[in-house]
Amino acid sequence: MQEMCHFINGKRVAGTSGRFADVFNPATGEVQGRVPLASAAELDAAVQGAMAVQPKWAATNPQRRARVLMKFVELLNRDMDKLAEALSREHGKTIPDAKGDVIRGLEVAEFCIGAPHLLKGEFTDGAGPGIDMYSMRQPIGIAAGITPFNFPAMIPMWKFCPAIAAGNAFILKPSERDPSVPIMLAELMIEAGLPAGILQVVNGDKEAVDAILDHPEIGAIGFVGSTPIAEYIYGRGCSNGKRVQCFGGAKNHMIIMPDADMDQAVDALVGAGYGAAGERCMAISVAVPVGEETANRLIEKLAPRVEALKIGPYTAGNDVDFGPLVTADAQRRVLGLVDRGVEQGAKLVVDGRGFKMQGYENGFFVGACLFDNVTRDMDIYTQEIFGPVLSTVRAKTYEEALSLAMDHEYGNGTAIFTRDGDTARDFAARVNVGMVGINVPIPVPLAYHTFGGWKKSAFGDLNQHGPDAFRFYTRTKTVTARWPSGTKEGAEFSIPTMG
Ligand code: NAD
Repeated sequence: MQEMCHFINGKRVAGTSGRFADVFNPATGEVQGRVPLASAAELDAAVQGAMAVQPKWAATNPQRRARVLMKFVELLNRDMDKLAEALSREHGKTIPDAKGDVIRGLEVAEFCIGAPHLLKGEFTDGAGPGIDMYSMRQPIGIAAGITPFNFPAMIPMWKFCPAIAAGNAFILKPSERDPSVPIMLAELMIEAGLPAGILQVVNGDKEAVDAILDHPEIGAIGFVGSTPIAEYIYGRGCSNGKRVQCFGGAKNHMIIMPDADMDQAVDALVGAGYGAAGERCMAISVAVPVGEETANRLIEKLAPRVEALKIGPYTAGNDVDFGPLVTADAQRRVLGLVDRGVEQGAKLVVDGRGFKMQGYENGFFVGACLFDNVTRDMDIYTQEIFGPVLSTVRAKTYEEALSLAMDHEYGNGTAIFTRDGDTARDFAARVNVGMVGINVPIPVPLAYHTFGGWKKSAFGDLNQHGPDAFRFYTRTKTVTARWPSGTKEGAEFSIPTMG
């Protein structure tokens, strides 16, 4: 049983609140550690430590700050196996998928090596007679990130890399379900040359989150997690005058047109629907075949592939397609929703509810489930399931398929599979969803573009990573400067114009 900690001022420190949460090994169901849950006083101590060092870090030239990230990238590659193992042990995802989690964060660290360029301001020479105007981007000061369990390496890095590269100090409150990797990342940042105190990792639950939301010295908050919590954090953070961006849940539709290459579409659905046991905000959870014949062909090819999926613990190596869910609660919730789908009249083509993993009977496994004939009013359609469950909604026409994606309250990702460029173009132009794939099932933008959904999948302005991240973690200051050559005319009483 491992006693876990916070990471404050460059060191691992024990919690003092006396409150803890269990950390499970999802494959065995055993408690493998306990993580301290910080009090408001512990959070404040982390903020005070950050405030003491942040001005010096902000004054460090941006090239030097970027070099820390350069070294960090090298160290992530050095420790890739160790990080992936720790991640899989607490999350349950397979080792190759855990490496993907680290790599998608590492790519954002790489992008942030370009901070000196990204932080360059704007300059207008001669905006008026003898007048220059320039804008600079200055760090907010202390920023914070509140992150979910499902990408314990990637999402913390999406937050702290740009914030720190821009000259901020950062308070990370990672998920209490899989807290080991964030601490390892913070240690690597110190090894890479980051001054102690610039990256503080404070473990905790609602109490620590509320302390972040109310702390007067924290100027910006980036959140990723479920939509109800995103809404709460957005509301409370904004009403406290902070800059807040919150990314929430999802229900991603994949439309399969009659002209789609069905083998490709089936491959895509199996990976995007069941990879990481469906615990991805960009997982495809709804398949929308257009036309009866397309639907019949899809189910016929898809069902045997879903039945053949290999489920197991991460220790089974490359032989496993996906692992267990993160907690017993998640397992119960997903199984309950599958029951509800059956009660409400959907056809359960592949039933994974009875799945038991030999030797791992107490693990939080759920077998792959495939539904057909799902309709708009069913709970399995309206709610985010976040498990290995794919729902098929049959659409008669392209317009009906489009309206399904458009009318759903979530708008994170979506995809269309077709051979027709005109349909694909129309779909990309009209759909009210933030990230669109054309014959690509999981269109997660690369580090130098930005990531974010629409509708109830995101609250606030600006996306994650890419140039938006540098806008979010900095403030613009615009200077209008005139250097008079001597005494000029007297005071001006009307608003100056440059015309
Ligand atoms: P969650 O909302 O339960 O937790 C996210 C964070 O909020 C954690 O750090 C947690 O400690 C904290 N938290 C939980 N309850 C809280 C409360 N009552 N008050 C204050 N803070 C609280 O989410 P999760 O289960 O860790 O992650 C899964 C969810 O995240 C899914 O809905 C998924 O779609 C979403 N997600 C979204 C994106 C995206 O970019 N849109 C990416 C990954 C995951």
